[in-house]
Amino acid sequence: MMSSLRLENISKQFEGSMAVNNLSLEIADGEFLVLVGPSGCGKSTLLRLLAGLEQVTEGRILQAGTDITALEPRERNFSMIFQNYALFPHMTVEQNITFGMRMRNEPKSKHRARVDRVADLLQLGELLNRKPGKLSGGQRQRVAMARAIVRDPKLFLMDEPLSNLDARLRTEVRDGIMTLHQQLKTSTVYVTHDQMEAMTMADRIAVLNKGHLQQIGAPQTLYAHPANLFVAGFIGTPAMNIFKLPCRDGVVMVGNQAVNLPDTAHARQLTEVYLGIRPEHIDDSSAYRDPGNPGERLHLEASLTYCELLGADYLNHAQSPLGALRYLRENRGNAPQANQQVSLSFSLHDIHLFSGQNQQNLH
Ligand code: ATP
Repeated sequence: MMSSLRLENISKQFEGSMAVNNLSLEIADGEFLVLVGPSGCGKSTLLRLLAGLEQVTEGRILQAGTDITALEPRERNFSMIFQNYALFPHMTVEQNITFGMRMRNEPKSKHRARVDRVADLLQLGELLNRKPGKLSGGQRQRVAMARAIVRDPKLFLMDEPLSNLDARLRTEVRDGIMTLHQQLKTSTVYVTHDQMEAMTMADRIAVLNKGHLQQIGAPQTLYAHPANLFVAGFIGTPAMNIFKLPCRDGVVMVGNQAVNLPDTAHARQLTEVYLGIRPEHIDDSSAYRDPGNPGERLHLEASLTYCELLGADYLNHAQSPLGALRYLRENRGNAPQANQQVSLSFSLHDIHLFSGQNQQNLH
């Protein structure tokens, strides 16, 4: 894996707060990396550090082995796309796209071929002579992207480029970004607070919380093997059910069934664990057809509190001996009733166990 960019122990301290805390990661050549995390976790700061718009307090940024930590933004040849795409209102789409090239006094002969290529990629051909005021929000965002890619940068930095668009346009522009990425294969760092967006777009996702990198990996890895309780709760919709349960000598009781924790010195001395189970991994008696090996399933009697129709599924909310939980049940035309008793079960293979002490995955 050739690394196009490498962050080594990056920290950024603002007065009173560590926005990014001792963070290291690599971005592979051609990779689409998504930074995700809740508001204030340091995503935008990290992107601005990459762009050179902020200076690191500590650490190094290397591009293809060269230290670029001290370089000015324009010396980095990265292109940044913001959520507030500022187009010049008095210029046509074409003039907006070529603005940077004209500022750099690049020969006009180069413009035409490049403009045609990006206009083609982003389906802007018909709009080149229009002014931004006569464009839809999605079209304006595509122009902003065209302006960013026409430079042929080494890296794209995108800060929530979909966040100001309505639901339909989000899909349209998202598809545009993905098509573009497939064609250009330019390494991209994309920031969002929306984990669904991260799951659908990323080659790898980096989850941040309070300036710390929590986990980095393929979407499926984060979903199936969350490194800690934070990632478990953040990745996946609807969110994982998490119960804090007492445990002793490496054994936790789930209802009236004993479950062994992984056999480690750390697990044996714990008095509390967090047990996680995703809503899509819980079956109710009506849906569950394959008894499998009964020893490998956990059972809970529960009472429905309310049910949300999502379309193909209901999201059922229930009260169980472990606490309130949510699970998905296929919509087969008959609406589940509040107060209905349900026998729930889930496979031992689908549970996640986290330390009550340090919240790390026990596996
Ligand atoms: P959001 O999703 O809300 O944009 P974010 O994850 O992008 O959040 P950042 O904008 O990177 O978060 O902010 C991280 C932390 O650094 C926050 O606590 C923020 O208040 C602080 N911060 C960011 N910029 C500055 C600044 N220029 N001066 C002081 N503190 C700052």
